[in-house]
Amino acid sequence: MAPADTRTRIVWDYAPAPESADHVRLRSRYGLFIDGDFRDPVDGVRVDSINPATEEPVAEVAQAGEADLRAAIGAAREAQPRWAALDGLERGKYLFRIARLIQERARELAVVESMDGGKPVRESRDVDVPLAAAHFFHYAGWADKLSFGVGGRPATPLGVAAQIVPWNFPLLMAAWKLAPALACGNTAVLKPAETTPLTALLLAELCQEAELPAGVVQIVPGDGSVGAALVRRPGIDKVAFTGSTVVGKDIQAALAGRGVPLTLELGGKSANIVFEDAALDQAVEGIVNGIFFNQGHVCCAGSRLLVQESVADTVITKLWERMGRLRLGDPLDKNTDVGAINSAEQLARIRALVAAGEEEGASRRSVACELPDRGWWFEPTLFTEVAPAHRIAVEEIFGPVASVLTFRTQAEAIEKANNSTYGLAAGIWTDKGAKAFEVASALQAGVVWQNTYNHFDSSAAFGGYKESGFGREGGPAGLRPYLRVG
Ligand code: NAD
Repeated sequence: MAPADTRTRIVWDYAPAPESADHVRLRSRYGLFIDGDFRDPVDGVRVDSINPATEEPVAEVAQAGEADLRAAIGAAREAQPRWAALDGLERGKYLFRIARLIQERARELAVVESMDGGKPVRESRDVDVPLAAAHFFHYAGWADKLSFGVGGRPATPLGVAAQIVPWNFPLLMAAWKLAPALACGNTAVLKPAETTPLTALLLAELCQEAELPAGVVQIVPGDGSVGAALVRRPGIDKVAFTGSTVVGKDIQAALAGRGVPLTLELGGKSANIVFEDAALDQAVEGIVNGIFFNQGHVCCAGSRLLVQESVADTVITKLWERMGRLRLGDPLDKNTDVGAINSAEQLARIRALVAAGEEEGASRRSVACELPDRGWWFEPTLFTEVAPAHRIAVEEIFGPVASVLTFRTQAEAIEKANNSTYGLAAGIWTDKGAKAFEVASALQAGVVWQNTYNHFDSSAAFGGYKESGFGREGGPAGLRPYLRVG
């Protein structure tokens, strides 16, 4: 008979710690933000923005029609020469003001981001909102130094930028787009994603509070058809798109021959590589952060976990044990690690790919956690015995699902990591500095992290390789896509 386990089992249970939503100043309905004011759509429609954790409407939002887009682009065109003619220092002051206002209303923005998108408030509060402010601060500093950012050459703005962002980091993506465009003297028409328009509309209120001149920023919510119409309209001088590769290709085709510069920040299937000499407990934390942060709704998620064979069993055991301690539930609870899936469509896509993984013979395990009765949820999931050709190793799942592959040698790790049509990011876990540099320089990825993952900084460039897109956002490199350089 096996000896009885006399160790005391510690059960870590937390009392609920809900973030208050009392301070949130949300209107029940929002218009389109055009020429410095909110207005009703001329030929657009109104839809509810839904809280994915409750399936309840958060606010009613206008979607732009063709006439609304014409008006938005017209306002941006009208405002652009005056905005560009302002001294860079003056433009920078507006951006500083917006950054400060984001900080002042940080709690409110974090709560609305979590209500509208489903992400844990701990993440909106500690990542999305501070980084959005940091981007405005960063580019405020560049506004009067543009030519220094492009090698000392003369630099002029492009004109009107059409900008389209996805639903996974709504405020942050809006900041990544608007801050550099405005610093460079462009005006903008930004289309938020259909499921998460609210923080972009709050940002429009901040633009009003900062007394940003009318027409410098327009916010025109809408679905994919509105985005498609926006990039096809005359009067735009630049398109910046963040979203899926399939839509990126469609936009590229639509712009072919028009001479409109394009930046594409697209999808990924990033490799997170764990070598046998890594600090394994730290690596496990990095793996968790890499794939379960924001429910895996992250373009650069470390969704392909490559583990050296000699430590694979240990890493998988530790990871599985750690996954069991993730807390899934109310996004507004400050203890929540994994929030709601952003939409019913995204949940269906995750389920379909997970089913494909099982059908193709990979071994699935999902954390046995209680899922709330309402809303859209998916348990943190790990696939082992994954072959490189399995759909779960090839396609972007965009959910809390990690696929584990193993390798024996450094060369095999590099080959497997690069065996993807994507090339957005990668992680390397090793104690050997020389190995990290050698592997990093061989990886086809726009961003490579060493002994960390999902680390972002407003002064660092971010962008893709291969089908993950082109152009960079962040840092001085992020100025270039918004300037005509002499
Ligand atoms: P998506 O491509 O479906 O939509 C992105 C945005 O484009 C939305 O605002 C949508 O309304 C709009 N859109 C849809 N169809 C369009 C069309 N035909 N023309 C113009 N606009 C259109 O992507 P998504 O599902 O919202 O976002 C997830 C994708 O975004 C993932 O692939 C993810 O990897 C990618 N992403 C990339 C980055 C990056 O920096 N590389 C960052 C975040 C997300």
